[in-house]
Amino acid sequence: MNEQERKHRIKRTVLRVLGAALALAGLGCSIAGFVDLAKAFGERRMPMFWLFFIGFPLIGVGIFLLSAGFHRAINRYIKDENAPVFNEMGHQIAPGLSAISEALKTGGEKTVCPKCGADNDKDAKFCKSCGAALSRVCPKCGTPNSADAKFCDNCGTPLA
Ligand SMILES: [Zn+2]
Ligand SMILES: [Zn+2]
Repeated sequence: MNEQERKHRIKRTVLRVLGAALALAGLGCSIAGFVDLAKAFGERRMPMFWLFFIGFPLIGVGIFLLSAGFHRAINRYIKDENAPVFNEMGHQIAPGLSAISEALKTGGEKTVCPKCGADNDKDAKFCKSCGAALSRVCPKCGTPNSADAKFCDNCGTPLA
């Protein structure tokens, strides 16, 4: 295992552990919120709604981290939409955060041009540097495959 892979693995582990912890904490808050809601009706007082306000976002963030930890490919939409949230959260969960944002940056998949080696966006069809085709569309099922794919990753058809 080379250095790069090792770092990647650590980042993913951090994402998974942190994600699970946040999701569980969020779940706990939400459950406490529901329990309190039921109690509050009996006691005729205001329920502690703030438990939901904390619980639900925590679950969301936790699930996001988990999915980021389990899928290396992080879709760009999620990355762009959530980056500010991570920055804000940074003050509370500083340890591990730099690893996360780093993972988000490097986790954003790139397509390397097979011809000139330039980095292109994951979904790019043609190289922005030399114009070479970056994906091969399967003639049988229409699935876009990476330019160096020999067989369709959806149906196994050999790609010319
Ligand atoms: Zn190129
Ligand atoms: Zn196919």
